[in-house]
Amino acid sequence: MSQDTELSHFLKDVHWLMDILQNIDVGLVVLDQNYEISLWNQFMQNHSGKAPEIVLNQTLFSVFPELSEDWFRRKAEPAFILKSATFTTWEQRPYLFHFPHYRPITGTARFMYQNTTIIPLMNTNGQVSHICLIVYDVTDSAMNKLAQIEANNRLEGLSRIDHLTQLYNRGYWEQCLEKEFKRFDRYQIPASLIMFDIDHFKSVNDTYGHIAGDDVIRMVSATLRSQLRDTDLAGRYGGEEFGVVLTNTNTAGAVELTERLRKQIENQMVVFGEQEIKITVSLGVCELNETIDSYQQWLESADKALYYCKEHGRNQSYSLPQTP
Ligand code: GH3
Ligand code: MG
Ligand code: MG
Repeated sequence: MSQDTELSHFLKDVHWLMDILQNIDVGLVVLDQNYEISLWNQFMQNHSGKAPEIVLNQTLFSVFPELSEDWFRRKAEPAFILKSATFTTWEQRPYLFHFPHYRPITGTARFMYQNTTIIPLMNTNGQVSHICLIVYDVTDSAMNKLAQIEANNRLEGLSRIDHLTQLYNRGYWEQCLEKEFKRFDRYQIPASLIMFDIDHFKSVNDTYGHIAGDDVIRMVSATLRSQLRDTDLAGRYGGEEFGVVLTNTNTAGAVELTERLRKQIENQMVVFGEQEIKITVSLGVCELNETIDSYQQWLESADKALYYCKEHGRNQSYSLPQTP
């Protein structure tokens, strides 16, 4: 083969390669050791709106000032120094280049999520003179993954919440109770437990019906919610029984809350059709102490205090253990 033919074959190959680089559906950017741009393919032009004439021989950081230079240099240096490829994923950083992402129909993504591979490019002496960024559009899979995470979180939230009252359901609430008990066991962080129950609730159902009864349960839980701090954990323990775990609270603090709650409920009414329903609650309190061996025993003690109220006229608070 003559040298001319060889050259013409070589040029043809290069021409094809350039065509492929230009048309491939990933971003390709070649940078030299000063982070100046030596190659900018069509994908990059289309999505950034910046033509090669504008970006070539400019540093990446002057063309994309919002790209953190420190972070990017840390990512790219292993390619220059260790001659090894590095990767960034959308989970670490949603994108390297802020490209708008238009989704006329399913449009939830406002930008293109990207994974990027950085590979070293060696010259004929085996030195890394340049690096190549390969930028993948992973918006679809990122959106799916994010939607899945959100759905899981929602389901997890739902499985913890009681439908009627929007308080924690019994299962989740008991887990919280157990956790708080263990915290006390390990670190002696004070905590109090309130168990309370609507007085003569059966007669509410019998007199006004189940639907009215449900409204009463809702009123009680809404009043309870309005009185809680962020750290308090309130759950619906049974039909018309509620539990509240108060972290960092002693008996005096807990009784302050039970009395406030009791008076507020006593002074409220539920309007059901023509009827005005008034109810009261009884509340048992138990502050955690070292004689209590398990969260079940803690629960029993608070229940005992509640039972004391029921035995002594209802519409009251009582705390255990009683200080002498
Ligand atoms: P006490 O003062 O001793 O607590 O009397 P009480 O009538 O409230 O006693 P009890 O705990 O035996 O009655 C609870 C009733 O609550 C029985 C049940 O029919 C009713 N109940 C349980 N869950 C629900 C519910 O989700 N909605 C309605 N409307 N009623 C419920
Ligand atoms: Mg009751
Ligand atoms: Mg009951």
